[in-house]
Amino acid sequence: MQKTVDLRSDTVTQPTAAMLKAMFDAPLGDDVFGDDPSVNALQEKVASMLGFEAALFMPTGTQSNLCGLMAHCQRGDEYIVGQSAHTYRYEGGGAAVLGSIQPQPLAQNAFGQMAVEDVANAIKPDDCHFAQTKLLCLENTWNGHTMPSDYLDGMTRLAREKGLSVHLDGARLFNAAAASAQPGESVAVSAKRITSYFDSASVCFSKGLGAPVGSALCGSKALIARAHRVRKMTGGGMRQSGLLAAAAAFALDNHLERLAQDHSMAQRLAQGLENIAGLKVRSAQTNIVFVDVADGKGPDLLAYLKTHGVLATGLIGLRFVTHLDVDAQGIDHAAACVRSFFSEANPSKTSSTHRGAAVY
Ligand SMILES: *Cc1c(COP(=O)(O)O)cnc(C)c1O
Repeated sequence: MQKTVDLRSDTVTQPTAAMLKAMFDAPLGDDVFGDDPSVNALQEKVASMLGFEAALFMPTGTQSNLCGLMAHCQRGDEYIVGQSAHTYRYEGGGAAVLGSIQPQPLAQNAFGQMAVEDVANAIKPDDCHFAQTKLLCLENTWNGHTMPSDYLDGMTRLAREKGLSVHLDGARLFNAAAASAQPGESVAVSAKRITSYFDSASVCFSKGLGAPVGSALCGSKALIARAHRVRKMTGGGMRQSGLLAAAAAFALDNHLERLAQDHSMAQRLAQGLENIAGLKVRSAQTNIVFVDVADGKGPDLLAYLKTHGVLATGLIGLRFVTHLDVDAQGIDHAAACVRSFFSEANPSKTSSTHRGAAVY
């Protein structure tokens, strides 16, 4: 029997046997005293891999971004961010609620990019009427899209000219790195090329890297010292967290190069969903496939898939995320189920195509 194909997110992965062994074998201390050797080793590993002086292990990406924003900005400062960026839209407004940091959200194009002119125009002059613009925050990947290096270069150059710092929400940085690696280049080296544009970066271990829990904030020693205080203040000082850090370190050692497989599974799914009347693959970059479903049938399709052991998320647009617990057989099963939903619903091709407004 086909096991459940869970494409809701790359956060759903179970630790592998080898990862669990690394966790069980990890030497532990008390990280609030700063003496958990596994946490310290992870922090050094990720900081040096990404070219930063220091790093701090965090329970979640949300807390990692929050500590980063609050380490960069004081109360009443402002940060510039995409209108649908995770830190602005999907983190409970934490920067404003807990940091009293004013967000200045800007429009993004279909690839998650802001316009350079918009950013330039949004940076406030030094005048008592305005909040002080301190930080630009970018996200890579954004909805599965990688940010091209000329975009990163142009944006971070502008920010620096205007005296702003730049933070990267790199929850899926390593997916971006795998997708934009030059021939023969390792994912780690590619990741460092991306982070070289930034003053700080937050990365998740709990997504495509397959660890059960954890993120890291990377930056200068001074920035990480400020973030450390915020992490404690927001309840994120953990104790024998080396148990979790060991899983993250294992993932950095063993799960970077395999991300390319997740990306090819996403391509395989996108190909399997081609030429279905009533469904359109909107984008399939890195490990995320978005499809638009016509005639408001998204929820019906989701429910149908669920009864056939395929899980996804969305409404009008559905999202399928590949990860290390999904193989080619699962992908083919998912594509076949989508196809059978449409062939059962529309035995004749003409029945659905001219009814009402198409959603895409
Ligand atoms: C997942 C994610 C985060 C952090 O999420 P947590 O669930 O708090 O770990 C931050 N930014 C982006 C872009 C994400 O996808």
